[in-house]
Amino acid sequence: MPSEFEIIRRYFSRPARSALLGVGDDAALVEPAAGCELAVSTDLLLAGRHFAARAAPRALGHKALAVNLSDMAAMGATPRWATLALALPSADEAWLEEFAAGFYALAARFKVDLVGGDTTRGPLALCVTILGEVPRGRALRRDGAQPGDDVWVSGELGGAAFALEHPEDAAAEKRLHEPEPRVALGERLRGLASAAIDVSDGFTQDLGHVLERSGVGAVVRYADLPKFRIADPALEQRCVLAGGDDYELAFTAPQAARARIESLAAPLGVALARVGSIQAGAPRLELLDAQGRAMDVEPGYDHFA
Ligand code: ADP
Ligand code: MG
Repeated sequence: MPSEFEIIRRYFSRPARSALLGVGDDAALVEPAAGCELAVSTDLLLAGRHFAARAAPRALGHKALAVNLSDMAAMGATPRWATLALALPSADEAWLEEFAAGFYALAARFKVDLVGGDTTRGPLALCVTILGEVPRGRALRRDGAQPGDDVWVSGELGGAAFALEHPEDAAAEKRLHEPEPRVALGERLRGLASAAIDVSDGFTQDLGHVLERSGVGAVVRYADLPKFRIADPALEQRCVLAGGDDYELAFTAPQAARARIESLAAPLGVALARVGSIQAGAPRLELLDAQGRAMDVEPGYDHFA
């Protein structure tokens, strides 16, 4: 069995192109571009809670990084550097090979350098910290939504949650295991969106965070939400409103930005749906059905509920 240091050397020591110093010292050295702020985010994925211990390692490598890239997208930040803390029950080389392949393939696509981490024996856990750059003062925060703004959603909602109940559905499985972080969209929304969040815990809950932080309400038309195709209406509603793991962006923007936002969809290859509007008042989400009647809003995923 390889030692801790052999694991690091063999699987996690590819040269960092955009860091002053990468893996191998006590800390990495990075230098953000002039005029940029650093955006920093961490996600911890635990076997048995966020994924099955027997999940395909290549997809896990992808997802561990993808969920962090999605946080950069939601901030309008450009991801640059990542660290990876790994707890492994054993040094399974076939597993490590595949995991590293999935991680580095996504990292290469987004020009992100793995610059450090930690490796220890323990119950399988994956923790990635990502660092990104955003021009000073231009990050997409949760607290900027204004009354009158439109509410927008990228891609489709519900596919990842649908896969949990229908693992035979290949398209849904892909949504769950290999989400596509909307980094380019986040970058293009700088200066257009007033607030943004990535949909990781369910649309109603995640939009709710924006409403809380911005101190506003919202009206959303269920019929206008972009949905993964699900035949059963009750299941559709549950997956679309409360399903997590889609990693689409929900964002708000002034009505004056409508045409510019619509024009982003084709070049980026991502659908953008205008689903409602921000209202003055208490941070409450009102969901309307096709007849304009208020619907019951289901909460999304809460680890402690
Ligand atoms: P230290 O004892 O100073 O924490 P380590 O021996 O844990 O250093 O790690 C040695 C080097 O390998 C460090 O540069 C660390 O960032 C890097 N490293 C350790 N584990 C990983 C990993 N899973 N992925 C990437 N880099 C790692
Ligand atoms: Mg260490």
